[in-house]
Amino acid sequence: MIEIMFIGGSGLYELENLEQIEEVNIPTPFGETSDSIITGSVAGVKVGFMPRHGKKHTLLPNEIPYRANIYAIKTLGANRIVSVSAVGSLRENIGPMDIVIPDQLIDRTASSSRGNTFFGDGIVAHVSFADPYCSDLRRIIRTCCQELGANFHYGGDLVVIEGPQFSSRSESNLYRSWGADIIGMTALPEAKLAREAEMCYSTLAMVTDYDCWRSEKEEVSADLVIRNLKKNSLISKSLITLLCKNINTDEIFCACRKSLEKALITKLSFESASTKKIQPIIGKYIE
Ligand SMILES: [Zn+2]
Repeated sequence: MIEIMFIGGSGLYELENLEQIEEVNIPTPFGETSDSIITGSVAGVKVGFMPRHGKKHTLLPNEIPYRANIYAIKTLGANRIVSVSAVGSLRENIGPMDIVIPDQLIDRTASSSRGNTFFGDGIVAHVSFADPYCSDLRRIIRTCCQELGANFHYGGDLVVIEGPQFSSRSESNLYRSWGADIIGMTALPEAKLAREAEMCYSTLAMVTDYDCWRSEKEEVSADLVIRNLKKNSLISKSLITLLCKNINTDEIFCACRKSLEKALITKLSFESASTKKIQPIIGKYIE
């Protein structure tokens, strides 16, 4: 069983120090996953890895098969996901190469077209999303950042935009006025689906730029992002190794693993095709 699953964003397409490597492809009712899932062990801990945009970075943020990815990870038995994402900063004190461990999300994606729920087709559920991120995982990531001596910010509001274009200067300033601290394109609907699948989910946000709010001269470009991503990916790889060493704990204080307990409204039955379709997600609630 996989102890911790990493989803790699821009700039992170493979893990280092991985032993006993296997490549697995899980069929899903939501189509193919972004790429094969790589499993192996780091420091004796069984881990999984999936590049969110594909190994060769061929998927736009809105083309990522979010439901297939989370379904496949759940099917593999993983209960914890750390998502590594490149983000822009909306605050002066959060600079390029810094790490943010966000605690809140604002959804500015065209979420329903990205497939933002496992439910529907006769099954109704409303999970709580007041605190989108797993408090346990966030604390573990903080400990690892401290150990590494990384420049990090514990807490922050991540606004997720549809993309693939970067935001306009007006939009960037609007998000700042809302209290957003960092900006990205992929944390949603990933975090929502992980919550529906009763998995712990957290984001390790690697800052690449200041978006475009900061000055008239400065603006984000794909070229700048890629350059900083390469530097960031070294930090994220060291952090991942540390995380694997720190993850092996049986102490679970968060409520992520029972998010459906009070969320499912429809009575589930084995006979229904909709129930069978998402059996790995809701299996324990079928009477
Ligand atoms: Zn949790």
